[in-house]
Amino acid sequence: MTFKRISFLKYIEHHLQLNPTADRRDLEMKLKRVLQDHQNGITCHCRDDIWAIGSAFPGNGCFTFLTGEHLPYDDYELHTAHHRSSDRKGQVHIDDLDPDDIHGLFDDEGYKINTDLMKKPGLCLLGTSIKPTQ
Ligand SMILES: [Zn+2]
Repeated sequence: MTFKRISFLKYIEHHLQLNPTADRRDLEMKLKRVLQDHQNGITCHCRDDIWAIGSAFPGNGCFTFLTGEHLPYDDYELHTAHHRSSDRKGQVHIDDLDPDDIHGLFDDEGYKINTDLMKKPGLCLLGTSIKPTQ
C-alpha cells in the first residue's frame, strides 16, 4: 500500500481547505478517536489495519472496505496510523506533537528516537574495547 503520508495537523488544514464549512473540532475529535482505536489494536473486520483518515466519518474500516478499491492511489493517511503495522510501530512523529511537548531526538523522517533502545558501543581506551561486565 502506498498512502501519501501526512501529519495530523497538516491533514486537518488540508481537509478544512477542501471543506471550508467543516467543523474543525469535530474532525479533530473523530480523527483522535480513530487513532486511539488504532493504538488499541482495533482492526477492520477483515483484520487489516484501519484507514484512519477514511474511518473518521463512516466508522472503522480498512482502505478496501471503505473504498472498494484494492490499493490506495493518491489517498492520504496519517503518519502515526500508517506506520503502526510496520517498523514504525509505536513511534511518534514530530508533526503530531504539541509544539510544547517536542524534546529529544528525531530521525530524518521526523520520528522520535528512543535513545534507551539504541545499541551503545563499549568503552574504548587506547584501541582496546572494554565490554561491560554482566
Ligand atoms: Zn477490511
